[in-house]
Formats: sequence, C-alpha cells, structure tokens
Amino acid sequence: MSKALVCSCEDVTVEDIRHAVAKGFRDVESVKRFTGFGTGVCQGKSCLSAVAALLAKEKAQKPEGIVPFTPRPPLYPTELSLLASLPVDESKPPVGGVPQELDTFPATLRPEGAVPTRARVVIVGGGVLGLALAYNLSLRGETDVVVLERGYLCAGASGRNGGGVRMQWGTAANIELAKRSIELMGRFARDLGINVWLRQGGYLFMAKTKAVAERLERNAALHNKHGVPTRMLTLDEARDVVPGLSLKDAQAVSYNPEDGVIFPWPFLWGYANACRKAGIKVETYTRVTGFELSGGLVRKVKTDRGDISCDTVVVATGAWSPEVAKLAGVSLPNEPHRHEILSTEPLKPFLGPLVSVLDSGLYFSQSMRGEIVGGMGDPLEPAGLNMGSTLRFVSRFARALTEQLPNLGHVKVLRQWAGCYDVTPDNSPILGRTPGLENLLQLSGFVGHGFMMAPAVAERMAQWMTTGASDELFTRFNLRRFHEGKLEREDMIIG
Ligand SMILES: Cc1cc2nc3c(=O)[nH]c(=O)nc-3n(C[C@H](O)[C@H](O)[C@H](O)COP(=O)(O)OP(=O)(O)OC[C@H]3O[C@@H](n4cnc5c(N)ncnc54)[C@H](O)[C@@H]3O)c2cc1C
Repeated sequence: MSKALVCSCEDVTVEDIRHAVAKGFRDVESVKRFTGFGTGVCQGKSCLSAVAALLAKEKAQKPEGIVPFTPRPPLYPTELSLLASLPVDESKPPVGGVPQELDTFPATLRPEGAVPTRARVVIVGGGVLGLALAYNLSLRGETDVVVLERGYLCAGASGRNGGGVRMQWGTAANIELAKRSIELMGRFARDLGINVWLRQGGYLFMAKTKAVAERLERNAALHNKHGVPTRMLTLDEARDVVPGLSLKDAQAVSYNPEDGVIFPWPFLWGYANACRKAGIKVETYTRVTGFELSGGLVRKVKTDRGDISCDTVVVATGAWSPEVAKLAGVSLPNEPHRHEILSTEPLKPFLGPLVSVLDSGLYFSQSMRGEIVGGMGDPLEPAGLNMGSTLRFVSRFARALTEQLPNLGHVKVLRQWAGCYDVTPDNSPILGRTPGLENLLQLSGFVGHGFMMAPAVAERMAQWMTTGASDELFTRFNLRRFHEGKLEREDMIIG
C-alpha cells in the first residue's frame, strides 16, 4: 500500500492529518502537536505549506484561521559545541527573545456562538491543572462544568515543559503528591485511552557545593521515610548509571530509580477527551475578560464569547493567575518567570535518568523519541510574562550540558522554546478558597513542577469540592498563609 507523506522528517502522512482533523484538532498548532509534523529536522520548512493546503482542502478550518505555527530557533540544526562557544555576558540579565509570542490568539480561531450561559463550576485555564480538575470532577458526578482556555490546549506551561516526574522533594506533602501522581500516570493509558510515554528511568541529582550536598542527603532520608527508594550514590555508581557523565566538582549524587519522564501533550488531550465525553464543555480560544461580583461572591464569569453565571470559579491559569485573579480584585503573590528549554536531534537511547545539577538548575533527559530535552534557569531572569527564546540561553545550556556529557558536542539542537514558571514566595502552590471571595478557588503557583503534581492535586481538589470534607492541603496551601507568615518552603527546585 502506498503512503502519501506530508512530513518526511517525522513520517507524517496525509491520512495522519485527516485522522487529527477527525479527532477535532483543527488549528495548525494543535495538528502539529497531535501528529508531530514540523517537529523534525526541517522544523516545518518543507511540510507546513502542505499541511496548510490539506487543512484548507479538508475544510478543517476557515481559510483565515489557517495560520502558520510559531517558528522556533535555531533556523538550522546547530551543533552544541558551536553554541557553547558563543560569548555570554553573565553580569547582565537576559533581555527580549524571539519569537515575540503574542498574548492574543487570532480572533479567526474563536468558535462561533456563545458559551453556555450557566454552569455550576467554571474553570479558567485549560492547562493540565484545569483539565485534570475537570476530569476528576466528572469522575465524582459533577459534569455541569465549563473549562475556558484562551488558546489551544498546550498553549501554556503544560505544553512547554520538560516532562520530568519525580518523588525527590524536600517536603512530605510534595513527596506524597508526586508518589500518587506517578501511580496515576502509570494507569493513564488504561484509564484515559492515550499513551503518555511514562518512562521510569530515574532522576539523578548532582550537588557541586557542600550546602546543596547536605540538602540532597537530608532530603534522601526524608524520601526513605516516605517509602521512596532514593539512594546517595558514590561517584563510581553514578558513572555506572550515566556512562560518560563528568563528575568534576561533584560533592554528592542522589538517585531514585522510580522517578522518570513523560510526554506532556497527551495528558491534555486525554483529560479533555474524557471531559467532553462526560458532557463537560472545554471551550478553547475563549478568553476570560472579567468577573461580576456581588455579596462577597463571584456571580458571573465574563468572556469574549459571552457571560456565564456560576456557583464556583477556579483560577487555574498558571503564570497568568495574578493577571486573572486581578480581574476579580484579588492580589496573588505569584510571579511569572521565563524558563527556556530545547530539544536536539534524536540519538539512540543511552541516557536512563533525567540528570540535574541542582546548584545551576541544569537538567536534561532523553525522550522516547531519542531527543535530548533540557533546560537551565537563569538567576538574572527578571519577572514577567516572556516566552521568547534567546541565544544567551542556548549558549549557557550548551556549555553546561557539554561540560557534563562532553561526548554530545557534535549533537545538533533542533528547536528551542520557552514557557513561564508560576513562582510563589515559598515555591509551594496556592490552593483553595480566596479570603473575601469564598466561591473563587485558587489552583496555581506550581513553579516548575505543576505537571507532575496535577493528577494527585486535582484528585484531592475534586474530592474536597464535591464532598465538602476538610482536607489539610487546602488549608496549608491557602493564600492566607502569605498574610499570616506561615510559609511552606520547598527547597528541591530546579532552576
Ligand atoms: C520550561 C519549563 C519546564 C518545566 N518542566 C517541568 C517538569 O519537568 N515537570 C513538571 O512537573 N513541571 C514542569 N514545568 C512546570 C509545569 O509545566 C507547570 O507547573 C504546569 O504545566 C502548570 O499547569 P497550569 O495548568 O497551572 O498552567 P498552564 O499550563 O500555563 O495553563 C494555564 C492556561 O491558562 C490560560 N489562560 C491564561 N489567561 C487566560 C484567560 N484570561 N482566559 C482563559 N484562559 C487563560 C493559558 O492560555 C494557559 O493555557 C515546567 C515549566 C516550564 C515553563
């Protein structure tokens, strides 16, 4: 049987595109993510126009809605060693970045018709946390729910992250949540019918200073108390786990073989599909523009497709949460911070765990497609909603990665992008009721680890919302703690 290819780098056929359209993926960004077209070596140079023509022919989208996906640097695959040789001024903060991703999505993609005029629960934000919550509400029989997402699913941090999932945390709460999440992730394909490519190859943390080494040791003991098999490795053992890894300056190494990586995008589709099947409305390209308040409650959610009266509203807008909460007159202490990340050409499988140098915030893992995916925080990154990619990042990262794995110098970077961490003063989330607006619930502030927390936190939150039973998670992590000075500090933050 012959096959008609549209993307020869990723072996995507005409039939694959048709299948994506039939599954409801009708805009170019979503079709790209669902099929993988445009994510290979040519980065869409040879396939984008073919897919656009096909979407027009299939009448998948209004012609004016067929807009190219966001281009990603570098223009051509570029070797890590070359990038590592570029000069970086570490004394100055990073500025700008390309492309300047706009905060608005084309109005042509907005669905025609109004949103429902009433729902018991409105969830603002169609990232992993909003969708996981909606799904868990449906499991408890609450399906009078609308999820509002201003872009496509995966537009926020949930579509831009490193896919790391780990139980190596510094607080009992995060260890237990991560354990439960990873358990649920292992069942995701069975429960939701979509493969999320969970690979438990472990997490290997390296400390290069005494202070960080002590932190690793202290936390490893805490993990063991919670049944997590983290071990401090000798340097020889670490070399066995990651052949070729440079351990120069390493003071301590911790390793949990049960941590791992997942592929983020299918989570969003799996949750959204299950929600829709249960009767929940997931409205993409629909922006929340305000709230109507009276008597200490939110009465209506205003959107660019009409207003929805409701009993409960959940703010699950990640790094945009301060901006969205402000529309209800609520001030959140979260700050968005850009985090950059990249992906290389695929290599044969060689890297078991996700490796992180906790001191510098460097992390890298190998995806199931063989790419090295990794990022690194920048201590000088200013707060702000910026999703541009910089040469500075790619150069800093390439240098740090090739210091740890010198054999990778010849490997080429295919694509870099950025997302925003949703950073709170104590690196812990903001959950539960809003003082003064009791039916406005908060579900934000997950810094750089919200993906792996989502399944477990959403499960607890749906139970708390539907049973009314108290749950200490929503007291401990309430917004009130910042006014009361009861911070819940987490110290195992990468970046
Ligand atoms: C580079 C990077 C690497 C990361 N690596 C990891 C990792 O390895 N493991 C991990 O667990 N986590 C990681 N994270 C963090 C993780 O991605 C986030 O914590 C998580 O995705 C947050 O999910 P969310 O649903 O809260 O937010 P988001 O996914 O950002 O979703 C919020 C949504 O709200 C929408 N929205 C905003 N304003 C409005 C409005 N007015 N109306 C309607 N919708 C609106 C946005 O479009 C967005 O889609 C990483 C993050 C980044 C940026």
